[in-house]
Amino acid sequence: MKAVVFEKFGETPVIRTVPDPVPSPDGVVIKVAATGLCRSDWHGWMGHDPDIRLPHVPGHELAGTVVAAGRQVRNWKAGSRVTVPFVAACGHCFECASGNHQVCEHQFQPGFSAWGSYAEYVAIDHADTNLVSIPEEMDFATAASLGCRFVTSFRAVVDQGRVTPGEWVAVHGCGGVGLSAIMIANAMGANVVAIDLTNEKLELAKKLGAVATINAAETPNVVKAVKQITNGGAHMSMDALGHPTTSYNSISNLRRRGRHVQVGLMLGDHAKAAIPMAKVIAHELEIRGSHGMQAFRYGAMMEMIKTGKLRPDLLIGKTYSLDEAPAALMAMGNFEGTGIGVVTRF
Ligand SMILES: [Zn+2]
Ligand SMILES: [Zn+2]
Repeated sequence: MKAVVFEKFGETPVIRTVPDPVPSPDGVVIKVAATGLCRSDWHGWMGHDPDIRLPHVPGHELAGTVVAAGRQVRNWKAGSRVTVPFVAACGHCFECASGNHQVCEHQFQPGFSAWGSYAEYVAIDHADTNLVSIPEEMDFATAASLGCRFVTSFRAVVDQGRVTPGEWVAVHGCGGVGLSAIMIANAMGANVVAIDLTNEKLELAKKLGAVATINAAETPNVVKAVKQITNGGAHMSMDALGHPTTSYNSISNLRRRGRHVQVGLMLGDHAKAAIPMAKVIAHELEIRGSHGMQAFRYGAMMEMIKTGKLRPDLLIGKTYSLDEAPAALMAMGNFEGTGIGVVTRF
């Protein structure tokens, strides 16, 4: 099969013919129809992820059709249209048994702990625990765009952030995660303040439901601005970018007993970012992470997509061919373009 491969971290990935994958006994092989371009792939390519062994094929936001299934797989067969959350769980550990597949102790992550979907085919283990059926009316590009940023935002806003109608929500960073979160929080009935460095992204944030925007490049004190707009601070705030400044601002712009959810990755030099801990204590703030979402939680999200309350299709930016994927991957470090890029031609 054709795949995007890199031999060394930071070195230009190449398109190469590699052996076709075979399914593990409880896994499947999927013919990839769409795969999202994500900043996590860029982090992986840069060498920030200790799970990656070289040579490597990136790609973890995928949708396609099952072409082969292992003998233990019960629920899926050749021809099934499927997607998968980026954390594929083992289904057997303590966390899985307690319903928290997103933090499985033995997680399988295509594009990180195994070869991913910047390829014609990808193998996914533990298929019965992890595959999600794609509704007939949903196209592959939209389905692929859900697997990482959209589901993580859904869990961050709904399950971790516990947003309720009428609350103020601040979203720092309007990339794929941030825009998803804005749409989801708005659908939940919250009032959303969007923060970013570019007016282009803030315009899109408004279209997707933000009631107020702050351009952090033109605003000397973002925390003060959020507090003014929200009459004292956000009930829930999210760092959707993953940077010490946005993380610090997101915690600092909370009202008393507010909830911060960290979604943007903090890797490399940012892994131990500062936290205003005195304020966390005095104001009883909550700090939570959000790391993907369990396959079984897709149902609620799919219903909101079906009824048109959530429109992930509006978040899709440019589409690419697999041949264009290496250049697009390397450019992910620059935060250029709006929306989620998806490879749809193989
Ligand atoms: Zn991703
Ligand atoms: Zn597990």
